[in-house]
Amino acid sequence: MNQGGDLSDPRSVEQVVIEIVARSLERTTDEVTLNSRFWGELDAESLDMLDIIYALERRFRIRMPRLNLLQRAVDLFGEDVIIKGGIVTERGIELMRVSMPEVPAEWMKPGMRIYDFRKVITVGSFVRVVERCLEAVDKLRCSRCGGQPEGVEMTLRCTGCGMPIELPSGEQLLVQDLRIYAQRLSPPLVEVQTGLRDEA
Ligand SMILES: [Zn+2]
Repeated sequence: MNQGGDLSDPRSVEQVVIEIVARSLERTTDEVTLNSRFWGELDAESLDMLDIIYALERRFRIRMPRLNLLQRAVDLFGEDVIIKGGIVTERGIELMRVSMPEVPAEWMKPGMRIYDFRKVITVGSFVRVVERCLEAVDKLRCSRCGGQPEGVEMTLRCTGCGMPIELPSGEQLLVQDLRIYAQRLSPPLVEVQTGLRDEA
C-alpha cells in the first residue's frame, strides 16, 4: 500500500478507483469497468466495500461518506416521500436518478425495492464520490489567512500559516448535494424537520 494521498500520480481517478476495486475484490483490472455493479456482478461484500472505501480515503486523502444515498434521502425528505412499503417511490427514483447520473436511468425504475437499490451502485458511483470529495478539498482555504492547504498524511495544513485544516466530510457533501438535486425536481422535494417527524 502507498503512504496515502499520493496526488502526484498521473493516472486518472477512474483508473485508480478501478485498480483499487480490482485489488480488493481479487479481480483483474480488465474485469472491472465504470459500469460494473458491486452487488450481483462483482460479488462484493460489505467488508469489501469498507476495504475499498478505506483504500480510496488513504489514496486520495479524502473522507468518503459511509451511508447510502437512499438512506440519506429518507432522513432529509421523509420516509413516506422516498420509500413506501419497502418500495422506492417515484419521487425517490427521480431523486436517485439526478443524484447518480453515472447509473443508467433504466436501472432505476418505479417499483424498485429498497434492497435492489444497492444493486445499482457501480464503480462509476465511487468515482463520482471521490471526484466530489477532491473538488471540495480543492476549494478549501485556511480560515485564518486564506492560504491553500497542503496534505500531510491524512491531514491538511495551511501552506501560509501552518494551521491544520479539516478534511471535508463526505457525509456533509453528500447531504449538500442531495439538497441541491432535490431543488431540481418539479415540484422540488421539501425537507422534513428532523426530530419533529412522527416515528410511528
Ligand atoms: Zn493559514
